[in-house]
Amino acid sequence: MKVGIISVGREILRGRVLDTNSNYLARTLTSIGHIVVRISQVDDVQESIIWEINFMASYPVEIIITTGGLGPTGDDITIKSIADAFDVPCRVNRKALEIVKERYNFFYREGAVDSPVITSNRKKMACFPEGATPLYNPVGAAPAMKWEINDIKIYALPGVPSEMKEIFQKEISPELGGSLRYIERFFETPCKDESKLSEYLRIIAEKNPGIYIKSVPEKFGRDVSIKVVIGATGEGKREAEKSINEIYSLLKEKIEEPC
Ligand code: ATP
Repeated sequence: MKVGIISVGREILRGRVLDTNSNYLARTLTSIGHIVVRISQVDDVQESIIWEINFMASYPVEIIITTGGLGPTGDDITIKSIADAFDVPCRVNRKALEIVKERYNFFYREGAVDSPVITSNRKKMACFPEGATPLYNPVGAAPAMKWEINDIKIYALPGVPSEMKEIFQKEISPELGGSLRYIERFFETPCKDESKLSEYLRIIAEKNPGIYIKSVPEKFGRDVSIKVVIGATGEGKREAEKSINEIYSLLKEKIEEPC
């Protein structure tokens, strides 16, 4: 399925935090056969998040995953913004509130917070659009969200990488992962000149639209041979490997001599 990933947070736009969340999600989703068509990094400003959600919805993507902005502070507005993008009101979700209470009781027992009381800032983390499902956060306090609207599956995950990964692996990967697998392999070629190699790659790519083939340039040099990456999707890893090997054989036939 086509996927869009949105990383929310001013710290990313200021260059203070490297957006490793989208990289992790893109790698993992690609490996289970999904096609990530857009990754964006947006400010934690309501209009920016709404704009990006609307853009992805009209792109169209079938799955949107956001990370960041689920916490108790004023700039944590991701879920409210997603709901606003679809004109659906947010209300306190009973199950989400139970999760928030349980997590703060736990943090209180651990001595991580001074009080387990659910203040209005903490309660905010339990506000979900109607029809959305809260997902348990075993690491932090804020529940994540799963919501299906207008045939788009939307997942809102926390920004803290350990929380994001834990929820993705436990709750999302099992439902998005089928039997499809995508893999990539790198091969040496006898070519030094990428502009010549590209002609062979173009012909192969045109005849095999399902595969990904691309040269991987490093630098010019007498002893530099250019590598090629070949990627393929299959019902399981073995089928994907088989397609890759077939394409590599084609490539070897085409490049008969150093180029
Ligand atoms: P919590 O639910 O735990 O309060 P949150 O969803 O509100 O988290 P943010 O406040 O947006 O998350 O981010 C918390 C921290 O997580 C950031 O300060 C940053 O260190 C890290 N983080 C956020 N987004 C990313 C990202 N895209 N890639 C890597 N790290 C990130």
